This record gives sequence, structure tokens and C-alpha cells, in this order.
Amino acid sequence: TAKILDGKALAARMREQIRLEAAELTQKHGRAPGLAVILVGDDPASHVYVKNKKSGCEKTGIHSISHELPAETTQQHLLGLISELNQDPKVDGILVQLPVPAHINPETIIEAIDPGKDVDGFHPYNVGRLTARKPALRSCTPYGCMKLLEETGLDLHGKECVIVGASNIVGRPMALELLLAGATVTVCHRFTRNLQAHIERAEIIIAAAGKQGLIKGEWIRPGAVVIDVGIHRREDGSLTGDVEFESASQHAGWITPVPGGVGPMTITMLLANTLQAFRKHLGES
Ligand code: NAD
Repeated sequence: TAKILDGKALAARMREQIRLEAAELTQKHGRAPGLAVILVGDDPASHVYVKNKKSGCEKTGIHSISHELPAETTQQHLLGLISELNQDPKVDGILVQLPVPAHINPETIIEAIDPGKDVDGFHPYNVGRLTARKPALRSCTPYGCMKLLEETGLDLHGKECVIVGASNIVGRPMALELLLAGATVTVCHRFTRNLQAHIERAEIIIAAAGKQGLIKGEWIRPGAVVIDVGIHRREDGSLTGDVEFESASQHAGWITPVPGGVGPMTITMLLANTLQAFRKHLGES
């Protein structure tokens, strides 16, 4: 049966490292790294994500500054706030929790953030940097998946990787990360014919379709690495992913659990990005 890729344990180790580096730089420069977190409206899931991000900051010595705005906030007002935060020398990272209400254009918002403070790695500048093989701030979820893959010790050069999902926040930047690492990459999405045939030949599978149990355990090639990004809440309140975990574990060499796999890594990479932006703003290498 598959070995577990324990995201919770890796995240804890990485967060301890981030805490130590943040403390050292804070002492040396007389200010802590600062992350501004903007939440517009009252989406319950977004509130949970923001709470977890703020708590991750607190535990690693990152100063988080929260801006919780009502759902009827205008796009113009939000752009004004982002412009202030772009100018604020105490703010190293700016995060706008998505989704934003329908009257606000998320692309306009993302593009208004100073790319040097775009700790989510969603700004076209940062996506372009990754595309051009010179990553600056990298998208947190794919970056976290790369850290999990590193844990396997496998050489990614030439590996057959199949990504299921092609969104701007997961599938696409994931493809760019794996390409940069030398893998052979296939991206499947809602128009892909015969998903099973793609999965069956994959040595590495990144499941990010947002469809509970889409990927059947019997499809997994023996020894493959399975990274499950999907998060779904079952009727009994427990969480599960895009992959049938029990049966997939019978075939895979490595597999991430849900919860405790990709989730904790995403927030950890946000903290790592904030530290990276802080270091850059301080003129540290
Ligand atoms: P999305 O809805 O924006 O994109 C889903 C993608 O999957 C699309 O490209 C679509 O074409 C593709 N897809 C849908 N059905 C498919 C099918 N049957 N076969 C093949 N491809 C299919 O979703 P997203 O924002 O990328 O998120 C995907 C999942 O990952 C969700 O469950 C989300 O909750 C989860 N997520 C987890 C984390 C984390 O930190 N663990 C972070 C982001 C997203």
C-alpha cells in the first residue's frame, strides 16, 4: 500500500523554519514581515480560510493586518485600499481572498496589486515569470504540491505527469511548475476525452478538478504518486478529495490524504512567499 505524503508534518517543519528566519530578520531590521488580508463580503468558507491564514501568520511571527469589508464595497473603494497598501512600507504582502462579490472584477483587483507584494502569485507578472522559467512569487497551491513531490525524493525529469484541472489558481500554474522541473506534462480538463486513459499512464497525478471521487483507485498505475488537491465536505461533515483514497492507496506508491495533504501546504507557501517578499523589501538576498 501507498506511503502517505504527510502535508501536515511537512508544513509544521517548514513553518518552524519560517518562524526562525522571520524572527532573525525582525530583530535585525526592527520590523516584522507584514501581510495585509482583505476579505470582502461574508462567504462562510472564505472566513474560515482567512482565519486560518491569520493564525498561520501569528504563529510564525508575521504581522497580519486584516481588512474585512462589507459585501456592498465598491470596486473603486477596494482599488483605493490596494493602492494605499501598495505604498505602505510596512506591508510586504497583500492578499485579496477570492471569490469577491459579483460586482467586482477579480482580474482588475489582482492586477492592481504590486507584483512584489502579490503573495498569492496570481498577478500576470508573476505567472509570466514562472512561464519564462524565472519564478518570482509562485502560486501557493502548486508551489506546495512541488514541496510535497520533493518529499518523495523522485527525480521529476521526464516523468509522465497528468494534471486534472486547468484553473488559473491550480491546474495551469501546476503545469508550469512541473515543466520547469523537467517533467512531461499533460493537462486534462472538462473537455478531455477518456480521462481514465490519461490517468492509467501517469507516474504523477495531480487531481484538481473539484469533483469528489472523480479519479478511481483502479486507474492508478502501480507505484504512481498521487497528489489530491480537491476538497469536498461529505454529508457527515468529514472531508474528502477528488481521488478515491482507499482504493487508490492499494495501487499508488505515494498519496496525499485529505485533509492533511495539500491544504496545510497552501497556507505554508503563503507564509513562505510573505517572508520572501519581506526579505526582498529589506534588500536581503
Ligand atoms: P475550478 O472549478 O476553478 O477548476 C476546475 C478544473 O477542473 C477546470 O479546469 C475544469 O475544466 C476541470 N474539470 C472539471 N470537471 C472535470 C472532469 N470531469 N474531468 C476533467 N477535468 C474536469 O477549481 P479550482 O479552484 O482549481 O479547485 C479545484 C479543487 O481544488 C476544488 O475542490 C478546490 O476546493 C480545491 N482547492 C484546494 C486547495 C488546497 O489548498 N487544498 C486550493 C485551491 C483549490
